[in-house]
Amino acid sequence: MPEELAGRLRPGARVAVPFHRRKLAAFVVRGREAAPEGVTRVFRVAGLLEEEPIFPAELFAFLEEAARYYLHPLGEVLRAAAPALPTGALRRLKAGGFLATGETLPGRKVAHVKALFATRTESEAPGRLGTRQRALLTVLEERGEEVPLAELRAHVREARSVLRGLADKGLVVLEERETLADPFFGKPVAREPPPKLRPAQAHATGVLCRALGEETPGAFLLHGVTGSGKTEVYLRVIAEALERERGALLLVPEIALTPQLVHRFRARFGDALAVLHSALGERERDDAWRRLRRGELKLAVGARSALFAPVPELGVLVVDEEHDGSFKQEEGFRYQARDMALFRAQRAGALCVLGSATPSLETFERARQGRLGHLSLPERATAQALPPVEIVDMRRQRRTPSGHALLSGPLDGAIRNCLDAEDQAILFLNRRGFAPNVRCTSCGEAVECPTCSVTLTEHRRQGVLRCHYCDYAQPRPDRCPSCGADALESLGLGTEQLEGMLAERFAPARVARLDRDVATGRSVEAVLERLRRGEIDLLVGTQMVTKGHDVPGVTLVGAVLADQSLAFPDFRAAERTFQLLSQVAGRAGRGERPGRVLFQTFLPEHAAIRAAAAHDYEAFFTSERDEREALGYPPFGRMVAVRVDAADEARARHTADELARVVRGLAVHRSGDVMVLGPAAAPIARLRGRYRFRFLLRGRQLRPVRHAAQAVAARIDAGIGNARAVVDVDPVSML
Ligand code: ADP
Ligand code: ZN
Repeated sequence: MPEELAGRLRPGARVAVPFHRRKLAAFVVRGREAAPEGVTRVFRVAGLLEEEPIFPAELFAFLEEAARYYLHPLGEVLRAAAPALPTGALRRLKAGGFLATGETLPGRKVAHVKALFATRTESEAPGRLGTRQRALLTVLEERGEEVPLAELRAHVREARSVLRGLADKGLVVLEERETLADPFFGKPVAREPPPKLRPAQAHATGVLCRALGEETPGAFLLHGVTGSGKTEVYLRVIAEALERERGALLLVPEIALTPQLVHRFRARFGDALAVLHSALGERERDDAWRRLRRGELKLAVGARSALFAPVPELGVLVVDEEHDGSFKQEEGFRYQARDMALFRAQRAGALCVLGSATPSLETFERARQGRLGHLSLPERATAQALPPVEIVDMRRQRRTPSGHALLSGPLDGAIRNCLDAEDQAILFLNRRGFAPNVRCTSCGEAVECPTCSVTLTEHRRQGVLRCHYCDYAQPRPDRCPSCGADALESLGLGTEQLEGMLAERFAPARVARLDRDVATGRSVEAVLERLRRGEIDLLVGTQMVTKGHDVPGVTLVGAVLADQSLAFPDFRAAERTFQLLSQVAGRAGRGERPGRVLFQTFLPEHAAIRAAAAHDYEAFFTSERDEREALGYPPFGRMVAVRVDAADEARARHTADELARVVRGLAVHRSGDVMVLGPAAAPIARLRGRYRFRFLLRGRQLRPVRHAAQAVAARIDAGIGNARAVVDVDPVSML
C-alpha cells in the first residue's frame, strides 16, 4: 500500500493493481501487516478508484456472508454485485490518485434497426437471404416498429453482422442514437393519492409499520390472494420507512413484466426512485448506483440483482412474488435473491416482507413454524371475488367443435361469449413456437439438436427449427434427416400455432401473442399497454401472461394445457404448476365484471390442479408438505447440487464419480447425515455439445450438507482437468 493511501483503503473500496503489465481493478477486503505465509509475490496498489468504497459497510459484510453461504469465491461475488467501471477508468488513473468524483461515462450509443419493407420487398433483394437474415426480418416484420439492436441479439446470433448484410441489400437501416435516460420508465407519471385501506390491508400495514420502529423488525410473509392489494401495503410501509429517513428496496421478478407496478411507485413517490433493470445502459446503471450510494435516492426497485443495490440506511426490503423462479441466479454466482433478502435485512436491522399469493413451500413453512410473521389478505380489494374455475377434462373432449384437439367445446364457447360481450381473454400455453416436435411418420425419429439431447421446436413464421436450449436453428428440412422419407409431421401445439388458430377461428377478433419470440425488453411493455387500452381481444402467451398484470377488461382466462408443467423431472413440478395456474387465474375479473377461468387438463384429479381451481392454498400446501417431509426434500431437508460437464462423456462421468467419492469418504456421509444421490446423467444429458452428469447432496441439517459441499468445492478448486463443475447450494433447476 502506498504511503499516500494510508487510512484511505477501507473494505469494499476498489483499487487498481498492476498485474503482468496491465492494471486490474481489485477490491479491498481487509488490511494486513505482512503477506500471509506461502504468498511469494506481493503487488503494490497503484491507486484508489473511488474516494468512497463502492460498497457501504453493511452491504460489504452481507456480500462476504453470501459468498460463504454459497461457497463461492468472494472476488466473483463482489464483481457480480458491483457496477461496471467506467470504460478506460484504469487507464486514466494516475498513480496514487483516484478518479474524480462524479466522473461519468460517455453517452452510450445504441443502435436501432428499422425494416424498409415499404420501399423494397424481399424478392427484389439482390441475392438470396440466409436463414438468420430471414429470421431477423421476420422479427422486424412482426414488430412493425424499430427495434433496438440489443433486443435482436436475443433472437439471432451475431445480429450485427447479419444486419450489415441486410443493410447492404437495402432491406433495413441501422441508426446509432444516444440512449434515453430511462428507456422503460422515462415518461412522466401523474401523482396519485393513496386509496382508503381495506381492513385486512390496514391491519397488515399497522403490524409492519410498528415492526419498522423496533430494534429488530424481523421478517414477514404477506400472503394475499391475487388482487388483494399487496402492492398498496408495500407502498405504505415504504412510505413509512422513508418518513423515518430510512432506505427501502423492492425486488420484483422481472421488471419488464411489471411496468404497472413501477408506474404505481412513481405515481406515489415521484422521481425519488432508482429503477434498476437489465435494459439500462452502463451509464444509467452507474448513475443510479452512485445516487443511492451518496444518499440522494433512498428507494430502489429492481429485479434479482437489485438485491445488491447500495440503498442507504436500509429500513425495509420487500420481495414481491417471492415464489417466483427468477429470483434464483443460475449462472456464475448462483444465489437465491429471496433467501439473501432475509439475510441482508436481518444484518442491516431492516424489516423484510415477502409477498405472494402462492408462497413457496420454504417461505410458508417458515411462517408456519413462527420464524416469519404471517399476515394475510384473504380477499380481493376490488369489486369482484376470485373467479370460479372450471376444470375441463380433456380425456372426454375427443371431438371438439373447433376441430383442434386442444381447443375444447367449453373453452371455445367461453371465448365466443367473452368476445360477444366485448371483453378480453388471456390464453396461457407455456410453450413457444409453432410445434414442439417435428417427427418422421415413417421411421419415428424426431428432429433433434445436433449439440443438445432435445428435440427442435418448429418456428413456422421464421421457417426454422430451433433449439430452445442453445438457440441453434436450421431451416425446416423437406425430408427426414434420419431415413430420408418425405414424411415429416409437426406435433403438438405452441403459442405461435395457437395464435394463428384463434385468429382464424375468431376473426375479426384482434389476437396477439406474448412470449420471448415476439416480445423482449421494451416491446413487452408495448403489448401490455395495448392489452390495457383494449386494443387486444385475445392474448396468447407463455408464463409471461401469468405475472402480475392488472387489466380490468380481462374476464376470461384459459389454461390450454394445465398439466403441462407437471411432466418436468423436478420435485417442485407440482408446486410450480400450482403457482402458475393460481397466478394466471388471478388475471380474470379484476375490474367491474366477474371473471371466469377454464383449466383444460388430462389430469383433472391432480392435487395441484384441483387446489388451484379451488383457490385453496392451504389444501395444496398440506398435501405437498406431507410428501416433501416424507421424502426429506426442501423445506424439510437441505440440498446441494453438484453439476459436472465435459466435451467427452466418459470424462464427465468419471469426474462426477470422483467428486461424489470425496463425499463418500467423509464422516458426515458414514453417519448418515449426508446422502449422495447419483451421480447420474442429467435429464438433458447433453447441452451445447457437452455431456452432463450431476449428483445431489441431501440431509436433514444444513451444517453437514454444507461441510460435504465444501469438501467437493475444495476438490474442484484443486483441479479437475478439462471438465467443469459447479456447486449449487439450495438448487432450483433440476435440468
Ligand atoms: P396484488 O398485488 O395483491 O395482486 P394489487 O396491489 O395489484 O393486488 O391490487 C389489485 C387492485 O386493487 C389494483 O387495481 C389496486 O389499485 C386496487 N386496490 C388495492 N387496494 C385498494 C383499496 N384499498 N381500495 C381500492 N382499490 C384498491
Ligand atoms: Zn441445442
